[in-house]
Amino acid sequence: MPELPEVETLRRQMEKALVGRSVKSVDVRFGRKIFPSAAALVRAASGAKFKAFGRRAKLLLAHLSNGWTIVTHLKMTGSYLLKKERETPTKHTHVVFHLDKKEQLWFEDVRKFGFLKLVKTADLEKVLFEKEGYGPEPLDPSFTFKRFKMCVTARPHKKIKPLLLDQGCIAGIGNIYADEACWYAKVHPERTVGSLSEKELKGVYDGAVKALCASVKRLGSSSDNYRDLYGEKGGNVPHLWVYNREGKPCRRCGASLKKMWVASRGAHYCPVCQKPPRSAK
Ligand SMILES: [Zn+2]
Repeated sequence: MPELPEVETLRRQMEKALVGRSVKSVDVRFGRKIFPSAAALVRAASGAKFKAFGRRAKLLLAHLSNGWTIVTHLKMTGSYLLKKERETPTKHTHVVFHLDKKEQLWFEDVRKFGFLKLVKTADLEKVLFEKEGYGPEPLDPSFTFKRFKMCVTARPHKKIKPLLLDQGCIAGIGNIYADEACWYAKVHPERTVGSLSEKELKGVYDGAVKALCASVKRLGSSSDNYRDLYGEKGGNVPHLWVYNREGKPCRRCGASLKKMWVASRGAHYCPVCQKPPRSAK
Protein backbone atom coordinates (compact mmCIF):
# COMPACT_ATOMS: atom_id res chain seq x y z
CA MET A 1 0.00 0.00 0.00
CA PRO A 2 1.40 3.42 -0.89
CA GLU A 3 2.36 5.28 2.28
CA LEU A 4 3.58 8.84 2.85
CA PRO A 5 6.81 8.63 0.74
CA GLU A 6 5.02 7.05 -2.21
CA VAL A 7 2.11 9.56 -2.19
CA GLU A 8 4.59 12.42 -1.67
CA THR A 9 6.66 11.21 -4.66
CA LEU A 10 3.55 11.20 -6.83
CA ARG A 11 2.55 14.65 -5.54
CA ARG A 12 5.95 16.14 -6.40
CA GLN A 13 5.93 14.60 -9.87
CA MET A 14 2.39 15.82 -10.55
CA GLU A 15 3.25 19.30 -9.28
CA LYS A 16 6.17 19.44 -11.72
CA ALA A 17 4.39 17.96 -14.72
CA LEU A 18 0.80 19.15 -14.39
CA VAL A 19 0.47 22.55 -12.70
CA GLY A 20 -1.06 25.02 -15.15
CA ARG A 21 -2.17 22.24 -17.50
CA SER A 22 -5.78 22.10 -18.73
CA VAL A 23 -8.17 19.21 -18.47
CA LYS A 24 -10.03 19.16 -21.79
CA SER A 25 -12.45 16.39 -20.86
CA VAL A 26 -12.89 13.48 -18.46
CA ASP A 27 -13.92 9.89 -19.27
CA VAL A 28 -15.12 7.78 -16.37
CA ARG A 29 -14.90 4.07 -17.15
CA PHE A 30 -15.61 2.81 -13.61
CA GLY A 31 -17.43 5.31 -11.40
CA ARG A 32 -18.43 3.41 -8.27
CA LYS A 33 -15.55 4.78 -6.19
CA ILE A 34 -16.08 8.44 -7.15
CA PHE A 35 -17.91 10.68 -4.68
CA PRO A 36 -20.37 12.34 -4.70
CA SER A 37 -20.68 10.98 -8.26
CA ALA A 38 -18.83 10.41 -11.52
CA ALA A 39 -21.01 13.08 -13.15
CA ALA A 40 -19.94 15.64 -10.52
CA LEU A 41 -16.26 14.86 -11.20
CA VAL A 42 -16.73 15.23 -14.96
CA ARG A 43 -18.54 18.56 -14.44
CA ALA A 44 -15.96 19.98 -12.04
CA ALA A 45 -12.80 18.87 -13.84
CA SER A 46 -13.70 19.39 -17.52
CA GLY A 47 -12.27 22.73 -18.68
CA ALA A 48 -10.44 23.35 -15.39
CA LYS A 49 -6.70 23.73 -14.87
CA PHE A 50 -4.53 22.02 -12.25
CA LYS A 51 -3.54 24.76 -9.84
CA ALA A 52 -1.44 22.86 -7.29
CA PHE A 53 -0.97 19.40 -5.77
CA GLY A 54 -1.03 18.77 -2.04
CA ARG A 55 -0.97 15.85 0.37
CA ARG A 56 -2.47 15.20 3.79
CA ALA A 57 -1.56 11.87 5.40
CA LYS A 58 -1.91 9.37 2.54
CA LEU A 59 -4.42 11.54 0.65
CA LEU A 60 -3.35 13.11 -2.64
CA LEU A 61 -4.96 16.50 -3.32
CA ALA A 62 -5.34 17.88 -6.86
CA HIS A 63 -6.43 21.51 -6.48
CA LEU A 64 -8.27 22.83 -9.55
CA SER A 65 -8.41 26.44 -10.75
CA ASN A 66 -12.16 26.62 -10.13
CA GLY A 67 -12.19 26.07 -6.35
CA TRP A 68 -12.62 22.29 -6.38
CA THR A 69 -10.14 19.71 -5.12
CA ILE A 70 -10.01 16.10 -6.25
CA VAL A 71 -9.03 14.08 -3.17
CA THR A 72 -7.61 10.63 -3.95
CA HIS A 73 -6.86 7.76 -1.60
CA LEU A 74 -4.79 5.18 -3.49
CA LYS A 75 -5.49 2.48 -0.85
CA MET A 76 -3.89 -0.86 -1.90
CA THR A 77 -3.26 -0.53 -5.63
CA GLY A 78 -4.39 2.89 -6.87
CA SER A 79 -2.06 4.86 -9.15
CA TYR A 80 -1.92 7.89 -11.43
CA LEU A 81 -0.10 7.52 -14.72
CA LEU A 82 0.79 10.20 -17.27
CA LYS A 83 0.38 8.87 -20.82
CA LYS A 84 0.49 10.08 -24.41
CA GLU A 85 -2.94 10.71 -25.93
CA ARG A 86 -2.47 7.84 -28.41
CA GLU A 87 -2.13 5.19 -25.67
CA THR A 88 -5.11 2.94 -24.97
CA PRO A 89 -6.40 2.64 -21.39
CA THR A 90 -6.28 -0.79 -19.76
CA LYS A 91 -9.13 -2.66 -18.07
CA HIS A 92 -7.88 -1.20 -14.76
CA THR A 93 -8.06 2.43 -15.93
CA HIS A 94 -11.09 3.86 -14.12
CA VAL A 95 -10.75 7.54 -15.04
CA VAL A 96 -9.07 9.24 -18.02
CA PHE A 97 -8.34 12.97 -17.81
CA HIS A 98 -7.69 14.19 -21.36
CA LEU A 99 -5.10 16.97 -21.05
CA ASP A 100 -3.61 19.60 -23.33
CA LYS A 101 -0.30 18.88 -25.13
CA LYS A 102 -1.65 15.53 -26.38
CA GLU A 103 -1.34 13.80 -23.03
CA GLN A 104 -3.72 12.03 -20.68
CA LEU A 105 -3.73 11.24 -17.00
CA TRP A 106 -5.08 7.84 -15.94
CA PHE A 107 -6.36 6.78 -12.57
CA GLU A 108 -5.87 3.03 -12.35
CA ASP A 109 -6.78 0.65 -9.55
CA VAL A 110 -6.58 -3.13 -9.89
CA ARG A 111 -8.21 -3.96 -6.53
CA LYS A 112 -10.71 -1.06 -6.59
CA PHE A 113 -10.28 -0.03 -2.93
CA GLY A 114 -9.05 3.47 -3.87
CA PHE A 115 -11.44 6.39 -4.21
CA LEU A 116 -11.77 9.89 -5.64
CA LYS A 117 -13.72 12.50 -3.74
CA LEU A 118 -14.67 15.95 -4.95
CA VAL A 119 -14.47 18.59 -2.19
CA LYS A 120 -14.56 22.40 -2.29
CA THR A 121 -10.95 23.45 -1.64
CA ALA A 122 -12.09 25.90 1.05
CA ASP A 123 -13.92 23.12 2.90
CA LEU A 124 -11.10 20.54 2.96
CA GLU A 125 -10.05 21.16 6.55
CA LYS A 126 -13.57 21.09 7.91
CA VAL A 127 -15.28 18.35 5.93
CA LEU A 128 -12.34 16.01 5.56
CA PHE A 129 -9.23 16.48 7.67
CA GLU A 130 -10.97 17.35 10.93
CA LYS A 131 -13.47 14.57 10.46
CA GLU A 132 -10.72 12.03 9.83
CA GLY A 133 -8.89 13.36 12.90
CA TYR A 134 -5.44 13.24 11.28
CA GLY A 135 -2.45 13.66 13.55
CA PRO A 136 0.64 15.74 12.70
CA GLU A 137 2.54 15.33 9.41
CA PRO A 138 5.89 13.64 10.18
CA LEU A 139 7.82 15.61 7.53
CA ASP A 140 6.48 18.97 8.70
CA PRO A 141 8.99 21.11 10.65
CA SER A 142 6.39 21.41 13.43
CA PHE A 143 6.62 17.65 14.01
CA THR A 144 9.25 17.85 16.75
CA PHE A 145 10.22 15.11 19.20
CA LYS A 146 8.20 16.97 21.85
CA ARG A 147 5.10 16.84 19.63
CA PHE A 148 5.67 13.14 18.88
CA LYS A 149 6.11 12.34 22.56
CA MET A 150 2.88 14.17 23.39
CA CYS A 151 0.98 12.16 20.75
CA VAL A 152 2.22 8.73 21.78
CA THR A 153 2.54 9.01 25.54
CA ALA A 154 -1.14 10.01 25.75
CA ARG A 155 -1.78 6.30 25.03
CA PRO A 156 0.65 4.52 27.39
CA HIS A 157 -1.07 1.10 27.23
CA LYS A 158 -0.97 0.88 23.44
CA LYS A 159 1.67 -1.22 21.70
CA ILE A 160 4.12 0.97 19.80
CA LYS A 161 3.77 -0.64 16.35
CA PRO A 162 -0.05 -0.35 16.03
CA LEU A 163 0.13 3.14 17.51
CA LEU A 164 2.52 4.25 14.75
CA LEU A 165 -0.08 3.02 12.23
CA ASP A 166 -2.82 5.08 13.89
CA GLN A 167 -3.39 8.02 11.50
CA GLY A 168 -4.79 10.07 14.37
CA CYS A 169 -1.45 9.81 16.17
CA ILE A 170 0.89 10.46 13.23
CA ALA A 171 -0.38 10.86 9.68
CA GLY A 172 0.97 8.91 6.73
CA ILE A 173 2.93 6.07 8.38
CA GLY A 174 1.96 2.55 7.32
CA ASN A 175 3.34 -0.94 7.84
CA ILE A 176 6.68 -0.45 6.09
CA TYR A 177 7.84 2.66 7.94
CA ALA A 178 6.43 1.59 11.32
CA ASP A 179 8.60 -1.58 11.15
CA GLU A 180 11.60 0.47 10.08
CA ALA A 181 11.15 2.96 12.95
CA CYS A 182 10.96 0.18 15.60
CA TRP A 183 14.07 -1.54 14.26
CA TYR A 184 16.01 1.72 14.21
CA ALA A 185 15.08 2.34 17.85
CA LYS A 186 15.88 -1.29 18.87
CA VAL A 187 12.32 -1.50 20.16
CA HIS A 188 10.23 -4.68 19.84
CA PRO A 189 6.94 -3.93 18.00
CA GLU A 190 4.89 -5.33 20.91
CA ARG A 191 6.38 -3.05 23.58
CA THR A 192 3.81 -0.74 25.17
CA VAL A 193 4.42 2.98 24.89
CA GLY A 194 4.50 3.31 28.69
CA SER A 195 7.42 0.85 28.92
CA LEU A 196 9.65 2.83 26.56
CA SER A 197 12.48 4.97 27.92
CA GLU A 198 13.06 8.55 26.73
CA LYS A 199 15.97 7.26 24.64
CA GLU A 200 13.84 4.55 23.04
CA LEU A 201 11.06 7.02 22.23
CA LYS A 202 13.62 9.35 20.65
CA GLY A 203 14.91 6.38 18.64
CA VAL A 204 11.42 5.61 17.30
CA TYR A 205 10.92 9.28 16.39
CA ASP A 206 14.34 9.56 14.68
CA GLY A 207 13.85 6.22 12.94
CA ALA A 208 10.44 7.17 11.55
CA VAL A 209 11.67 10.54 10.23
CA LYS A 210 14.89 9.04 8.81
CA ALA A 211 13.08 6.13 7.11
CA LEU A 212 10.46 8.44 5.58
CA CYS A 213 12.99 11.02 4.35
CA ALA A 214 15.29 8.36 2.86
CA SER A 215 12.36 6.81 1.01
CA VAL A 216 11.11 10.16 -0.36
CA LYS A 217 14.64 10.80 -1.66
CA ARG A 218 14.59 7.44 -3.47
CA LEU A 219 11.06 7.99 -4.87
CA GLY A 220 9.36 5.52 -2.53
CA SER A 221 9.29 1.78 -1.85
CA SER A 222 7.79 -0.48 -4.53
CA SER A 223 7.56 -3.52 -2.28
CA ASP A 224 4.18 -4.31 -3.87
CA ASN A 225 2.89 -2.92 -7.13
CA TYR A 226 3.44 0.77 -6.40
CA ARG A 227 4.52 2.76 -9.47
CA ASP A 228 5.11 6.49 -9.88
CA LEU A 229 3.53 8.92 -12.38
CA TYR A 230 5.73 7.53 -15.17
CA GLY A 231 5.11 3.87 -14.33
CA GLU A 232 8.53 3.50 -12.68
CA LYS A 233 9.32 1.65 -9.45
CA GLY A 234 10.64 3.59 -6.45
CA GLY A 235 14.27 2.85 -5.47
CA ASN A 236 13.95 2.39 -1.72
CA VAL A 237 13.29 -1.36 -1.29
CA PRO A 238 16.97 -2.48 -1.41
CA HIS A 239 17.70 0.02 1.38
CA LEU A 240 14.95 -1.06 3.82
CA TRP A 241 16.29 -2.19 7.19
CA VAL A 242 13.74 -4.90 8.09
CA TYR A 243 10.51 -4.68 6.10
CA ASN A 244 9.95 -7.85 4.03
CA ARG A 245 13.46 -9.06 4.93
CA GLU A 246 12.52 -12.02 7.17
CA GLY A 247 15.24 -14.70 7.07
CA LYS A 248 17.83 -12.18 5.90
CA PRO A 249 20.61 -10.88 8.19
CA CYS A 250 19.99 -7.85 10.42
CA ARG A 251 21.96 -4.91 9.01
CA ARG A 252 23.17 -4.12 12.54
CA CYS A 253 23.96 -7.44 14.25
CA GLY A 254 23.72 -10.08 11.51
CA ALA A 255 20.98 -12.15 13.23
CA SER A 256 18.29 -13.66 11.04
CA LEU A 257 15.29 -11.28 10.86
CA LYS A 258 11.85 -12.53 11.85
CA LYS A 259 8.20 -11.80 11.07
CA MET A 260 5.34 -11.97 13.56
CA TRP A 261 1.75 -10.75 13.77
CA VAL A 262 1.01 -7.65 15.84
CA ALA A 263 -2.57 -6.33 15.86
CA SER A 264 -3.27 -8.49 12.76
CA ARG A 265 -0.50 -6.91 10.68
CA GLY A 266 2.81 -8.54 9.75
CA ALA A 267 5.68 -7.03 11.76
CA HIS A 268 9.32 -7.52 10.74
CA TYR A 269 11.98 -7.30 13.44
CA CYS A 270 15.38 -8.45 14.67
CA PRO A 271 15.06 -10.98 17.55
CA VAL A 272 18.45 -9.86 18.95
CA CYS A 273 18.33 -6.05 18.59
CA GLN A 274 14.64 -5.78 19.50
CA LYS A 275 14.08 -7.61 22.78
CA PRO A 276 10.48 -8.74 23.46
CA PRO A 277 8.53 -7.10 26.32
CA ARG A 278 9.25 -8.73 29.70
CA SER A 279 5.78 -10.23 30.14
CA ALA A 280 6.04 -12.02 26.77
CA LYS A 281 9.30 -13.80 27.63
ZN1 LIG B 1 19.89 -7.08 14.93
